[in-house]
Amino acid sequence: MRHRDSPKDHLVVENYLVEGYLGYDKLGYDKSDGNMVINKTLVFSTRGSGHLIDITNHVNGVLAESGVHNGILTVFVVGSTAAITTLEYEPGLIKDMTELYDKLAPANKRYAHDETWGDANGFSHVRAALQGPSLTVPFEDDRLFLGTWQQIVLADFDHRPRSRSVVVNIIGE
Ligand code: ZN
Repeated sequence: MRHRDSPKDHLVVENYLVEGYLGYDKLGYDKSDGNMVINKTLVFSTRGSGHLIDITNHVNGVLAESGVHNGILTVFVVGSTAAITTLEYEPGLIKDMTELYDKLAPANKRYAHDETWGDANGFSHVRAALQGPSLTVPFEDDRLFLGTWQQIVLADFDHRPRSRSVVVNIIGE
């Protein structure tokens, strides 16, 4: 298992478990018409508690390996206390978003969900539901249509560190 530490920013990925997805990877199958469908799962370890992780490079890596040149790419996080969005990934906006999440669904408030299961993460579910679990990005000539200051971000809202599976699904030719 190879661990790749964040190149420059501790807020970025802590562990990129490259081998983590190989076991249950459905590698692209090449149909006679040249269309391809590829599923890869990236595994990230997160700190929880609103940890925002820039996963753009990892998603681009999957696209580069895929052999698919034109199409759409979907990024989907498994689990109901995490989300995927795009942000300009810089400390100021990370702080702004954290403040917004705290305002929209404060952690120190009573949630009915917590009473249902004896959980303490009602706020995590509410934040994740608002943000949504997936993002679709079109691409052409091997390049995603992302703006320069538009990073793909995994948000982990759970109240504890988690291991997160992020499915990258590519459809195209
Ligand atoms: Zn819960």
